[in-house]
Amino acid sequence: MKLSILGSSGTYPAPGRPASGYLVEHEGTRVWCDAGPGTFLALPIDNHLVDAIVLSHEHPDHCLDLITAFHAFRYGERTRSHVPVYCPSSVSAKVLRFVDDHEDGAMAETFDFNAVDDGDEVVVGGIKISFRRSDHSVPTVATRWQTNGRVMAYSADTGPEGDWMRAAEGADLFLCEASYQGKPGMSDYPYHLTAAEAGRIAREVGAKHLMLTHIPPHLEPSRSVAEAEVPFDRPVELAVPGASRKV
Ligand SMILES: [Zn+2]
Ligand SMILES: [Zn+2]
Repeated sequence: MKLSILGSSGTYPAPGRPASGYLVEHEGTRVWCDAGPGTFLALPIDNHLVDAIVLSHEHPDHCLDLITAFHAFRYGERTRSHVPVYCPSSVSAKVLRFVDDHEDGAMAETFDFNAVDDGDEVVVGGIKISFRRSDHSVPTVATRWQTNGRVMAYSADTGPEGDWMRAAEGADLFLCEASYQGKPGMSDYPYHLTAAEAGRIAREVGAKHLMLTHIPPHLEPSRSVAEAEVPFDRPVELAVPGASRKV
């Protein structure tokens, strides 16, 4: 499995740093996971080669570029239709409203929306993707990606509560959000993790490698890495836009 970072900026994009988005590839199968603003342009492959799209939740920093992709697929030189999209039903409800007021059914023709929730599993090519409801303010799914015995997990946006972290049990790579720095509980919005919580959870679930993502533009990422390394007790990686890594 190969993971490419399209963007990892938390909450909103910054110059050279698109918001959340990843490309997962395995034996010719290519899945675009989260479509934050800037990630469509950052795809390292022809966008016609994307086999499926996974969206963790309805917040704009994770799904706005689905609208960008819609325009490209519908009005581009080569059109595409019925591209599979896996997401909570609340995502498709919002996105469809954005476009279909003006163009009857166009979005639903371009994308085949498949609602997923806690406990669901889908197979795309040789990749099995399992979904768990995370601890966020809107319906959000964390994901576990499995191929030939290799496992990658993605926390999506989440707080520390619940059992979503089982998605990352024994993962070869755990891509985990770290929206905050410092002590837990400092923010009045409890639906994100501090870097130290990401490190603790990664250690508790036995993840072999931890990669931090969703760090907002106003925070210094090296401090997040240092804070996560204390509880994880091993070097921690950073999701750098444009970088790729084998899992
Ligand atoms: Zn977010
Ligand atoms: Zn969110």
